[in-house]
Amino acid sequence: MGLFDKDNEPKSREELEAQLAKAKAFAALTPEEMAKKMEEAQKAAQEAFDKLTPEEQARAKAEAERLMRESEQERKALLEEAQKLSGIKTPRFCPYCGTENTGGNFCPNCGAPYKTN
Ligand SMILES: [Zn+2]
Repeated sequence: MGLFDKDNEPKSREELEAQLAKAKAFAALTPEEMAKKMEEAQKAAQEAFDKLTPEEQARAKAEAERLMRESEQERKALLEEAQKLSGIKTPRFCPYCGTENTGGNFCPNCGAPYKTN
């Protein structure tokens, strides 16, 4: 994962799709796998990051934060989809704030994921 690689911007549709596929694979990882990948990526990124100019560093940071947010959103969507497919029942009320569940896998009020096991 070269989040901070300055030559890592997609140059063609194929490259863009390859990066998207990589992001999707990343989003499907377990939390443990993701933590390990993050650690490796951060180590590699820091080395590349140190070689950039301050302007490039600021730009790379903003881009990395954007990628992280998208990755997390995609992960949540995949989790919801997986739970829907496996037919797991969610609780009627949020265990954290007590808001009535409207049928999703996340609380509509506080956003907490419903534990189903
Ligand atoms: Zn809640």
